[in-house]
Amino acid sequence: MRIILLGPPGAGKGTQAVHIAESQAIPHISTGDILRANVKAGTELGAKAKTYMDAGDLVPDEVIIGMVADRLDEDDAENGFLFDGFPRTVPQAESLETLLNDRDAPLDVVLRLAVPQDEVVRRLTGRRTCQQCGRIFHTVFDPPATEGRCDDCEGELTQRDDDTEDVVLNRLEVYRAQTEPLENFYWERGLLRDVEAVGEVDRVKDRIDTILTDLR
Ligand code: AMP
Repeated sequence: MRIILLGPPGAGKGTQAVHIAESQAIPHISTGDILRANVKAGTELGAKAKTYMDAGDLVPDEVIIGMVADRLDEDDAENGFLFDGFPRTVPQAESLETLLNDRDAPLDVVLRLAVPQDEVVRRLTGRRTCQQCGRIFHTVFDPPATEGRCDDCEGELTQRDDDTEDVVLNRLEVYRAQTEPLENFYWERGLLRDVEAVGEVDRVKDRIDTILTDLR
């Protein structure tokens, strides 16, 4: 399966992506995760991306596209993938289309996770991520048993630099202006499927599973 997860920041893409990647046995490719790993490791790419990320703005298309092209050439992406946080602009979607056409590997589906804006702000400002294993918690909706510690590995839970309220509001504006046009792009290609992404995580999971099962 070749799948794209679309939806505003805070729609639950990261959480659902872990589940889908496991159930479909495909790699979870998050451009945000790749960029954060580069920032952490102090690479040239990370240095280039950091200013944009801290402000909640998009990293330039050419940087992202090069990074994704390299990732698609890795062996584990040969039989499918799940993109989370990519594409974010129409030029990125067009470049992806070319990359996939060249590989004779068309997309199967674009899942759009739909959530109201006030809910998204609540979710993001309370989000905490384990530094060690990457598991995501929420201070109110899904708190860890011990404050600040991961239930799975006892790693430290931290807030992403771009999950503060003012940066979150900018990220939502950037989504509306630059990423929302992709909904039409994929709708025109008959690939867009809507998922209501409110309510319990497991219910959202079930809705996604139903769509994916129907596609098989
Ligand atoms: P995310 O983890 O997907 O919310 O991404 C965090 C930040 O990384 C975004 O606010 C952007 O600054 C940057 N980023 C991630 N993916 C992309 C992308 N496909 N295009 C441009 N910037 C991106």
